[in-house]
Amino acid sequence: MEVILADYLGFCYGVKRAIHMARSSAQPGPARTLGPIIHNPQMVSRLAAEGVEAVNSLADAPEDGTVIIRSHGVGPQVYEEAKERDLRMVDATCPHVKKAQMAAHQLSQDSFSVVIVGEKKHPEVKSIFEWSGRNALVVETEEEAAQIAPCDKLGIVAQTTFSGDKFQSIVACLLNKSNDIHIIRTICTATDQRQKAAIDLAGKVDMMLVIGGKNSANTTRLAQLCAEKTMTHHLETASELQDEWFHNIKKIGITAGASTPDWIIKEVYQKCQKK
Ligand code: SF4
Repeated sequence: MEVILADYLGFCYGVKRAIHMARSSAQPGPARTLGPIIHNPQMVSRLAAEGVEAVNSLADAPEDGTVIIRSHGVGPQVYEEAKERDLRMVDATCPHVKKAQMAAHQLSQDSFSVVIVGEKKHPEVKSIFEWSGRNALVVETEEEAAQIAPCDKLGIVAQTTFSGDKFQSIVACLLNKSNDIHIIRTICTATDQRQKAAIDLAGKVDMMLVIGGKNSANTTRLAQLCAEKTMTHHLETASELQDEWFHNIKKIGITAGASTPDWIIKEVYQKCQKK
């Protein structure tokens, strides 16, 4: 069986950095991440076994411990609350996310009406919204963009993992909303690279395997894009591989979301080679 890995797959810079920072904070404990460190249940369980568990809010963080902010980031009030409680903080917010947060903050300070192009429910978008002083509109589609009222000054930022093409198309719907528009394209290249490499590979193979958390938006998006090109399965671990998937298949392509650890990719790759 020929098994080909996508040119770009798996952990991105921001996720690698966050995991490293979380691991380095395990001793002396207790260390807790504010929410799951990444959208990958296997990695979250592994970290918990190493002593770094996830808590849902600062209220659940132990007084004498360390709180780790994940790569998606949080709003300014979380930093203030942690400071008030004298908690030790390790800030693993991805620098690209930080840039989007600061851009929204600055635009709002400079009296721009702020639009965040992104997924409303995504934790990163929520953190950017908080940094705008809760003074922004989140827009996910062209239709929503078209409904925005005209304003004097319009500032636009993006969720870092948003599709570049979709961002362009939404921005096009906003261009007639103001004569003073400041666009800050805070999209990170890791997502684009993984998507382009996956689409390219999907066009050359009989089946794509997309590895990553079912709760990971970027992995789910990779699976959708691959499914437009070829037969595609989204799986979290090698144990989900099914023999019937491999009937009449000669070439398999593998990709993985930015939150998928190397060891899971390796397991799937090796198991596929034996088919
Ligand atoms: S996808 Fe980009 S912005 Fe998001 S964590 Fe990774 S490097 Fe940072």
